[in-house]
Amino acid sequence: MDLQKINLTRYILISMFAGAVAGLTLSYFVEFATHPETGKPLLDGQNRPVLESSFAADYIINGLFQFLSEAFIRSLKALVVPLVFVSLVCGTAAMDDVRKLGTVGLKTLALYMGTTAIAISIAIVMALIIKPGVGVASPEVSAYVPGETKSLLNVLIDIFPSNIVTAFANGEMLQIIVGALALGIALVVSGERGKRVLDFFRNLNEVIMKLVILVMLMAPFGVFAKIAQVFAKEGFDTIFALAKYFILVIVVLLIHAAVVYPSMLKLFTGLSPIMLLKKLRNAQLFAFSTASSNATIPVTLRATEERLGASNKVSSFTVPLGATINMDGTAIMQGVATVFIAQLSGIDLSITQYLTVILAATMASIGTAGVPSAGLVMLTLVLGLVGLPPDKIGLIIGIDRLLDMVRTAVNITGDATITCIVAKSEGQLDEDIFNRPTEEEEIS
Ligand code: ASP
Repeated sequence: MDLQKINLTRYILISMFAGAVAGLTLSYFVEFATHPETGKPLLDGQNRPVLESSFAADYIINGLFQFLSEAFIRSLKALVVPLVFVSLVCGTAAMDDVRKLGTVGLKTLALYMGTTAIAISIAIVMALIIKPGVGVASPEVSAYVPGETKSLLNVLIDIFPSNIVTAFANGEMLQIIVGALALGIALVVSGERGKRVLDFFRNLNEVIMKLVILVMLMAPFGVFAKIAQVFAKEGFDTIFALAKYFILVIVVLLIHAAVVYPSMLKLFTGLSPIMLLKKLRNAQLFAFSTASSNATIPVTLRATEERLGASNKVSSFTVPLGATINMDGTAIMQGVATVFIAQLSGIDLSITQYLTVILAATMASIGTAGVPSAGLVMLTLVLGLVGLPPDKIGLIIGIDRLLDMVRTAVNITGDATITCIVAKSEGQLDEDIFNRPTEEEEIS
């Protein structure tokens, strides 16, 4: 099989559509399980609704589809840690001047945090104008079990690995980044021996990139199954009840992706935003179907390096970092959700409290990994800071998966846009590759 000639985007789009149709059809054959005494919907460990046992639920949705989607997402995830580590070691070792790391790091951090603050500010202003929470009757919800959040001090301490093997095993992205940066620098200053080890890493990097292509070929099946599962389980009645909230989050996400990022790219680099969006389509589809910027790292990295021309030196640092700390889409959901919950609870927040929300959501995004539903966990922290009831999150859980998918696509669009801006400013962006038209549909 010629890997070069497969039009993956088309296959993924077809399988998404087929998945949605299959899921919606199956949703007629399944029921949500409820608590025998309280009658409230039952939630699983990840706060997702549980299905009543039936053939469609047990053998198709939670059987065959679970297998196909998990096989795909797990394979993708399995590549993340080795790819980030090896790629970043190569990227760091290729810096002619290690001090440049500092400027690249600072620029990237400033842009990541700046765009997140812009994102959540737009979300709050729009929500204050549209008022999604006014007049919404609180539907019966089950108790939301908040996830654990870390203190800022622990977030900072946790950047440093005490055991690199544990960091790998737990996929601690910031620790892996620190480890790779250190090893990359050590390799450069180790002379001949360092060079030999570096050669090994460079070869390994090539091989892992080929593995990424192989896993991408699983996407049509995995995406079909995942989308079918989501559509079979998504409570569309709930979406209807919370339509204003749902649509508002989507609208702000689209504004951010279609106006804020493109304007920034144009302003800072003069490059074509349309080209960026076209070449990022595959990565966005992966992000959408997996709802995890982390699992999408291999595909984003491939897009920024091979399609958008941002060098490995810059991409290998900015992409994994972005997937971990830059979540503009998530911040948007949090902004709208905070206003929504405040309005619903009849609480008026002051300007200072909104500023607290902006600051808290921007900081909180640093400590949370890019995995499905991470944004809800962070939302507990944000709500708690301004005295809003975190259990109201139970209201929006039911419709969060679809929003999670869209916001994850926005999150990785932000990572790629900032990567191009930083790469261009460092003279590390190959404009011939960026502007090469044929790249957009082919794999490899
Ligand atoms: N799923 C998102 C991501 O991986 C995080 C979130 O908003 O829940 O980027």
